[in-house]
Amino acid sequence: MLNERGYWARSEGEVRDKTKGEKEIVWPAAWAVHVDFSAVTGLASQTERLRALAEGMGLKFIALKAEDAFDPTLSRRIGAAAGLPVEEGEGEGVALSVNLADIGLNLHSAPKQDPLEALRALLAGLPAPSRPTLLGHILDGLLTLAATTLPNVGVLLEGETSTRQAERVIGATAGGRGWALPLELATRLPLTTSASSSDPSVEATTRVVRIKPMKDITVKEAAIYCRTSGLESVNERKWDGTVGEPRRDARGKGAFASIEALTERFIATLNVSHPSTVNTINRTGNKLQFAGTPNNEQTRCPLCEMPVDDSATEWKARASLTSLPGRGPERREEEPRETELKPLLCYSCLTAFTPLTAAKRDQLAADVPLPLWVGPQVAQRRGVSEDEMRRQIDEFIIDDDE
Ligand SMILES: [Zn+2]
Repeated sequence: MLNERGYWARSEGEVRDKTKGEKEIVWPAAWAVHVDFSAVTGLASQTERLRALAEGMGLKFIALKAEDAFDPTLSRRIGAAAGLPVEEGEGEGVALSVNLADIGLNLHSAPKQDPLEALRALLAGLPAPSRPTLLGHILDGLLTLAATTLPNVGVLLEGETSTRQAERVIGATAGGRGWALPLELATRLPLTTSASSSDPSVEATTRVVRIKPMKDITVKEAAIYCRTSGLESVNERKWDGTVGEPRRDARGKGAFASIEALTERFIATLNVSHPSTVNTINRTGNKLQFAGTPNNEQTRCPLCEMPVDDSATEWKARASLTSLPGRGPERREEEPRETELKPLLCYSCLTAFTPLTAAKRDQLAADVPLPLWVGPQVAQRRGVSEDEMRRQIDEFIIDDDE
């Protein structure tokens, strides 16, 4: 639709003649960024089809993969695709991992690992209901990274429809993300770029603004538009059951491994008999007001990069029984260790990283790797440089072995 109205220039240096009724160019150049989840969802990759579609519209195309969240050379690759000078070297970022069996979620340095294996290991380690939430964070994280890495990008347009938005309202509320939800739903949200800098003293500056131009269009309307315009449309996510098939018992229960999948089906079914379901949910969602400070002073969760409601995280830490007397190490009264991830996470991410039962926790032994942006975020929250953080973590491991 934006293409039809000529929002961006089709070629470099294109000049439009307004006297001939041509629309003024809003953006001199535009990129289409596609994040491919086919390696974990088992769906066919749409990358090449979308590349042809985007390039046919005069867009520059960048294909990313979900596992790129674990690739230290990613920002350099994006830069190279944009024609920026390529630096040589190992690639940046401190790879971190956590052991989910560990109550405090102590951070470790992660060994070098293939990005896809790392993503699969993380998904396999998480409880099944937490996986779509994590994939959502990976999508947001990669899009933000692409927007902040590409030169001269001021606006990030997301293709989220009102149907997905309604699913987000219910899914996020159920998943404990209610506090930051007004920001997730916002039509216009400034993104901070300081997180991508390794120097914590760099001032947070807002360069990229995220907007959702399709926020008022339902999936059905979008499909009709595509059909009448002769465009192909794809609307499949399958973030449920990425690792192993979802189980289904005799009563048909357990077919959905996550709240997200359940919500998607619920809204789709209800919308058939009550066509205003999506609008009603979104109208309610739009009334939500963000209760925290709206500027960049807000502390952010290193995993989902959304502001943290400290009181809720404290409450969860107090309210949940995370250790039993006489079972395992007891450190309830002590200050949290510097290498613990737990005190930094938002309520929702903490829930996502908490195994459902203590019995499940005992089964988990292996470390799971974390997306690469977690390292700089943790260092920033701690107010130390990445090297300093790495030293603290390594020291902690040596202490452990003694
Ligand atoms: Zn979070």
